[in-house]
Amino acid sequence: MRSWPSPFIPDIPGHGPAVRVHDTARGELVTLEPGPVAGLYVCGITPYDATHMGHAATYVTFDVLGRALRDAGHEVRYVQNVTDVDDPLLARAVRDGVDWIHLADRETSLFREDMTALSVIAPDHYLGVTESIDLIVADVEALLANGMAYRVDTPDAVEADGRDVYLDISQRPGFGDLSGLTREEMLPIFGERGGDPERAGKRDPLDPLLWRAERADEPSWDGATLGRGRPGWHIECTALAVRYLGMPFTVQGGGTDLVFPHHEMSAVQGCALTGTRPFAQVYMHQAMVAFEGEKMSKSKGNLVLVSALRAAGVDPMVIRLALLDHHYRTEWEWTDADLHRATQRLAGWRTALSGNGGAPAGGLLAKLRERVADDLDTPGALALVDAWAVRTLEHGGTELGAPGLVARAVDRLLGVRV
Ligand code: ZN
Repeated sequence: MRSWPSPFIPDIPGHGPAVRVHDTARGELVTLEPGPVAGLYVCGITPYDATHMGHAATYVTFDVLGRALRDAGHEVRYVQNVTDVDDPLLARAVRDGVDWIHLADRETSLFREDMTALSVIAPDHYLGVTESIDLIVADVEALLANGMAYRVDTPDAVEADGRDVYLDISQRPGFGDLSGLTREEMLPIFGERGGDPERAGKRDPLDPLLWRAERADEPSWDGATLGRGRPGWHIECTALAVRYLGMPFTVQGGGTDLVFPHHEMSAVQGCALTGTRPFAQVYMHQAMVAFEGEKMSKSKGNLVLVSALRAAGVDPMVIRLALLDHHYRTEWEWTDADLHRATQRLAGWRTALSGNGGAPAGGLLAKLRERVADDLDTPGALALVDAWAVRTLEHGGTELGAPGLVARAVDRLLGVRV
């Protein structure tokens, strides 16, 4: 699938330190040691509503991670999926009386525009489910062949012998290691987030769907020995990560609402498929963003859309700065004050950066790198640039070239074009 044009990443002298982040599975900070190439997989959108501030926070966070890894001297291989066929997308298309393909195309296009505007580096592989069917089918067939998956009778399947396929979770050691949840805690969350614990014929209520046999009035694809149907939700990310990054890859990322079941299931499926562990070395999660007192979500309808702000004339770099002003592990609520503060900040930086001279910037570079590499402390990084801008504006610029260096550093490390 076409992604979007990546922004230019300016060079600055030297290298950043090794990157330390918080691993959800271990519950502590760990230093990433990816070797020459870091593999980054971030779960993409289900394209039935435009990019809201919660999405934007996630993709900007992992963009900053990619920038820190590059600055530390690693090459970054970045994979992102698009869940362009799934129950919520189909339900929205029916509700709105539109073709699901057009809905997915329209919302994916808008997402690409938002990512471009926000200066997010594009994935190397950007893939929809609908263009990865053959890969997913082969993986589900392999899971059936190695005894890790099983078929369940499906009376409402279109094909007489059509049957759904599930992963046999009870066979998997390590299930629950990522989320740290007990079975009792998992069951209700599984039901709320796309799972089907009540489905008759499953060996374990928590077993995730791998392949859904064709039903009437639902899109379907040729599944070879699986029969016609479409993939379950989690297997797309397993298949793409294993195929394009290999296991174990460096970081699996997404919002905290993906920890369970999505990331837990993606990981356990990857281990079942390859017979190796772990799926990813580190699992990183962006905290939820609220609006008007509740988590921003499509189901609640309390969305602040990047595209709506852009249409209202808000500079995308203001949006990016507003996001960076909150640490990725801290839940926060979007308010107009965020927008106001970021607008003032960008204006101040632009004034300070517009001269030929500025306050000395050599020390600032090292400190900025240190903040970003320290669990992506973007609020700390912004405060450092603020302090430099104040010194420059109050005392005038004595160091020729300093503004250019700071502008390049802010662009390279934080993705903020000033
Ligand atoms: Zn995913």
